[in-house]
Amino acid sequence: MRFYRVEWQDLYDFSLNRLKIGSYCVFCRRSSTSCRDLCDGCESQLQRITHTDRAGRVTSLCLACGIEGRSEICASCAQRRSPFTRIVAPYRYAFPLDKIIHQLKYHDRRVYARVLGSLLCAAVPAEGVLPDVLVSVPLSRARARKRGFNQAADIARWCASELGVPHWPDAAERIAETGSLAGLSRAERQQHILGAFRAADRVCGKRIAIVDDVLTTGATAREFATELYDTGALSVELWVLARTSSTR
Ligand SMILES: [Zn+2]
Ligand SMILES: [Zn+2]
Repeated sequence: MRFYRVEWQDLYDFSLNRLKIGSYCVFCRRSSTSCRDLCDGCESQLQRITHTDRAGRVTSLCLACGIEGRSEICASCAQRRSPFTRIVAPYRYAFPLDKIIHQLKYHDRRVYARVLGSLLCAAVPAEGVLPDVLVSVPLSRARARKRGFNQAADIARWCASELGVPHWPDAAERIAETGSLAGLSRAERQQHILGAFRAADRVCGKRIAIVDDVLTTGATAREFATELYDTGALSVELWVLARTSSTR
């Protein structure tokens, strides 16, 4: 069993930036004087959900389905009822963000969660009411044991501390082993994930933001939101760092 394995490089990276001895960008590994984990050059490389191409055309990914279009919610998704009172998804799941998320999830680079949490925090609109609590999408016990940590919880923790909102990593658990949903269609995922979560009673009466790293079909987040509402949550937002694009 491997829990919270920390590599020396991570500790070094972390202390260097944290203690403000100097800092460097986790994307390009160049040193910088900004005392941030990300340099301005790399930040400008991140592909935003809505962007303007060289010809001046503005395109956006639909936050709900990932289809490329003109607005953040496409016409067909606008007609469907969404369980989320708001979706925050600032970036497309594309280079270089996909590499960083992959490194965090599959190569134990937990030090990257801080910059990801900070980017997510910066994407939350200043206007409007903040949620009472951030709740990360739980991993199954088997997955948590194998990985040693939950990347969504790591991102949520940094985001929460920057925003000054509590994060409850134990507010819910995944009670069904659903395995990987990769390769399944939207309908198959929704069917597969049914009843997979159990939320603790303390979410009752709370305004919650679900935090996750990547949004694909949204089946997992929708099922999790349903469980939170069934347990009495007042409202549920979805905050993810990156959205995959879909072709339909
Ligand atoms: Zn950089
Ligand atoms: Zn859509």
